[in-house]
Amino acid sequence: MSNKNGKVYIVGAGPGDPELITVKALKALRKADVVVYDFLASIELLNFAKKKSEKICVGKADGLHLLEQGAINRLLYNKSKNGKIVVRLKGGDPLVFSRGIEEVLYLRKRGINFEIIQGITSAFAAPESFGIPLTRRVKYSSIAVLTGRKSNGEDLDAPECDTLIYLMAVANIENVVKAILKSGRSKNTPCAFIERATTGAEEILAGNLGNMVKKAKAKPVRPPAVFIVGEVVKYRRKLYDYKYSKR
Ligand code: SAH
Repeated sequence: MSNKNGKVYIVGAGPGDPELITVKALKALRKADVVVYDFLASIELLNFAKKKSEKICVGKADGLHLLEQGAINRLLYNKSKNGKIVVRLKGGDPLVFSRGIEEVLYLRKRGINFEIIQGITSAFAAPESFGIPLTRRVKYSSIAVLTGRKSNGEDLDAPECDTLIYLMAVANIENVVKAILKSGRSKNTPCAFIERATTGAEEILAGNLGNMVKKAKAKPVRPPAVFIVGEVVKYRRKLYDYKYSKR
């Protein structure tokens, strides 16, 4: 290895609540010389990094970047090649609908030490925050996590599955619902949008496939939000009190 013990940690910050980061991730943050972070990562987490560490924001909400991906890759390389400890802090899990793997491959090719530290993905945290389980023994046994926006213009996926969870679906909700209905599901299928999950500002908008487009536009739902579809959404009503007894 050409680098003098420099290392890049590709770290999941969790879905929003800063307490949902892992102990392992916190340890990496505490020893970082440089923190390269996305907007989605809870800003409070930066308080755990050393005061004199360099903190660089490269991302905007909804996965868009202030810096283009190539520039982020080069930044991680340049900061770590002379021995610095770099934490690349990403919202949720660092390899779920994220370009974290591109960063890993870039660094690996150049001989930089790296470590991937998992995070709690918003795909799972958002429904659970409102008491919506992702599976239920015997009844609901499959989950698909999908994108609501394809950069190559391909049709959206709506596979045969008990529970569908879409990320990045807000701006494209009409097409997302269209694709799900086209797959044969009924307009009565329960669904919900969960905004800013696990933060103090989290909200849920529940409905069914027949009325969700209208409801989401009227509210309006804003990113970041997770869209969940399936019978499991009904548990939200059963556990209605849960949300309000948590805090
Ligand atoms: N790696 C991230 C996903 C990045 S893609 C993860 O594992 O969570 C960005 C999308 O994540 C957003 O468009 C939204 O769909 C979802 N998202 C991230 N944080 C969220 C939050 N606090 N509440 C709801 N959705 C969130």
